[in-house]
Amino acid sequence: MISVEHLTKCYGDFMAVEDLSFEIDEGHVYGFLGPNGAGKSTTMNIMTGCLSATAGHVRIDGHDIFEEPDKAKKLIGYLPEQPPLYMAETPVEYLRFVGEAKGLRGAELKAQIEDVIRQTKIEDVRNRRIQALSKGYRQRVGIAQALLGNPKVIVLDEPTVGLDPIQIIEIRALIKELGQNHTVIFSSHILSEVQTICDQILIIAKGKLVAFGEPQQLEKRLLAPNEIMITTDAGKEEVKILLSGVGHVTAAEIKETDGGLVTACLKTDHDDIYAVSRAVFEAFAANKLALLEMSLKKANLEDVFLELTESGGPDEKISEEEKKTK
Ligand code: ADP
Ligand code: MG
Repeated sequence: MISVEHLTKCYGDFMAVEDLSFEIDEGHVYGFLGPNGAGKSTTMNIMTGCLSATAGHVRIDGHDIFEEPDKAKKLIGYLPEQPPLYMAETPVEYLRFVGEAKGLRGAELKAQIEDVIRQTKIEDVRNRRIQALSKGYRQRVGIAQALLGNPKVIVLDEPTVGLDPIQIIEIRALIKELGQNHTVIFSSHILSEVQTICDQILIIAKGKLVAFGEPQQLEKRLLAPNEIMITTDAGKEEVKILLSGVGHVTAAEIKETDGGLVTACLKTDHDDIYAVSRAVFEAFAANKLALLEMSLKKANLEDVFLELTESGGPDEKISEEEKKTK
């Protein structure tokens, strides 16, 4: 449905989006997850034809957004981060204006306005001025205008920012509903929001794609245990030497406890953490040293998200793996 290939955007010397590639298939709700400044809005503005790219391609159903903008744009409805609402107008007046700009006329325009008003549940405020509406209702009007023209894809840039908790729940429910008849792409910097609404998550950090997949799949893979904790009564130096001889232990934080024991937290680059645990156990046994405790530490998705987005550079292993599983 949408193919983004090697998309790059520079603002002067600053590279806001760097070599971004991904495919969006029909019939899913995609969450574009990343901290502020990650490049979400830049990417969405380019995908919807509102901003030019420095390099790369975006195709909507085969139509290049820069070469065939009319055909490509017809397939997308967009709610930008700052929706261009006309405060003095009523939702109906505003929707008529946007509908006409999208080429709708007469009975078709009227029918579609009624349809999007119903879908976004703004019947009650249809004839009030937009400036008098709450932020939640304004956001609904913004979504309503994106739905005009019945585009296949709806792109929403941080639709829940600035809303109160009840409005957030309502907008999330609306996004889920839209997902039944449209391909939806929405951005957020809130992990839990993306987890609950989307069936596909793209994590973007510093302009790069760092992970892409189904929430459960990402969770399963990213949350695999990645640290081994051990406790021993051997000496700190002894433990250090012993661990340096165990393969695939990439880092070890060794500490003495108040009780006279030594604990170590080991990190590994091996996919099979149990194989590394076994090797640690065998190294202790071979040296006739006692392992008093051994456990595996799981990260939580919040930690993983922070790590992925703070480290910045894409985790090649993750994106390569994701490509294989796709
Ligand atoms: P996000 O939507 O994920 O918060 P943006 O796409 O808005 O991220 O911004 C990505 C980066 O590009 C940020 O560092 C931002 O400061 C920078 N940026 C965005 N728009 C412009 C612009 N018009 N000129 C210069 N820098 C910009
Ligand atoms: Mg943004």
